[in-house]
Amino acid sequence: MSRGKTYELGTLTVHGGEERIHPGGPTQTPVVHSVAFAYDDMDEWLEVSLGRREGHIYTRNSNPTVAVFEEKVRLLEGAAAATSASSGMGIISNALFALLAPGDRVVSVKDTYGGTNRLFTKYLPRNKVDVTLCDTVDFEAIEAEVAKGCNVLYLETPTNPTIRILDLERLAKAGKAAGAVVMVDNTFATPINQNPLALGADLALHSATKFLGGHADALGGVAAGDRELIAKIDGYREIVGNVLHPSAAYLLLRGMKTLKLRVERQNENALELAEFLSAHSGVERVFYPGLAAHPGHDIACKQMRGFGGILSFVAKGNTYEAACRVLSRLKLAHRAANLGAVESIAGTPVTTSHVECTPEERQAMGIPESLIRYSVGIEDVEDLKADLDQALR
Ligand SMILES: *Cc1c(COP(=O)(O)O)cnc(C)c1O
Repeated sequence: MSRGKTYELGTLTVHGGEERIHPGGPTQTPVVHSVAFAYDDMDEWLEVSLGRREGHIYTRNSNPTVAVFEEKVRLLEGAAAATSASSGMGIISNALFALLAPGDRVVSVKDTYGGTNRLFTKYLPRNKVDVTLCDTVDFEAIEAEVAKGCNVLYLETPTNPTIRILDLERLAKAGKAAGAVVMVDNTFATPINQNPLALGADLALHSATKFLGGHADALGGVAAGDRELIAKIDGYREIVGNVLHPSAAYLLLRGMKTLKLRVERQNENALELAEFLSAHSGVERVFYPGLAAHPGHDIACKQMRGFGGILSFVAKGNTYEAACRVLSRLKLAHRAANLGAVESIAGTPVTTSHVECTPEERQAMGIPESLIRYSVGIEDVEDLKADLDQALR
């Protein structure tokens, strides 16, 4: 599977990276908890240490279970290489800190994930990296900033929590023209719905905690891209020690077997719920790129195979209290700061992604106070509709 024959995404989610035969012939990838890997032959040890021969030395550098997880994502993103970290923020940090140096410049958008935004507004400037955050869907402004010169163009689409869509092909082209490394957080879309590398990006990043794992029981992060970039991030990871635990890699691998089935179901459920909510009298506005009225619909049709499992909506009344009333009545969705799991999960930006912001800041970012983010699970959609309906009444 590694070279030559290619398979469809669904086959890759099940078999990708897992065809090696292990001692005893288990059909599932073993969890290798060993910290170190022993060599009887000193010459072989040296060859592996120098990277001239495949093998593992020490789990902070590489680990067999973690390597299988990285290989599966590499195949799904159509990349030359992949690397992982302890969480989504772990991989985003490893990538940015490995590739940026004092004096460098990053161009990104205002709507990135909250933790990423904190890296941009606090930790990168502290390391003398200049960060410019553009209005999220003002592509001309982004292109103009990029053309002034930048080392990293950092994108995320669909965005959190107002589900905006960035034109990846257009922006990646601008990034490449400026000689920037183009990074895309592909967490919301998943490799089932969108492949940033095929649209011109250099790195596809994931919080594997969300859809990839899909069962809300393991943290993890992963990046896929070309060999040289991934090697730089790996080199940084080895030293800072921000690594994925083999047990978490196992849970993520197990979850990924059903990634395509889950995401297809979540795409279908989300579209149906978005249409249902659009027609509901208790809802003022729905944000979902699958709706023809969504401003990013045409771009989404162009660059995504499905519109994803996340939608958000504004409850009537447009106050935080109105959102709380609806949320507290939901019976099926978990009220939690997570997304991408088999269970539906609902929350507000006020308590999750934008908890650090003031109401005025949220308003400036176009986030209504009664916005509810709803991560659609794999339940029967009629039950989800009925649950939302009774909560909105
Ligand atoms: C959750 C999330 C992250 C951070 O991932 P963790 O695994 O929680 O560290 C980054 N980007 C997006 C879009 C996310 O949803």
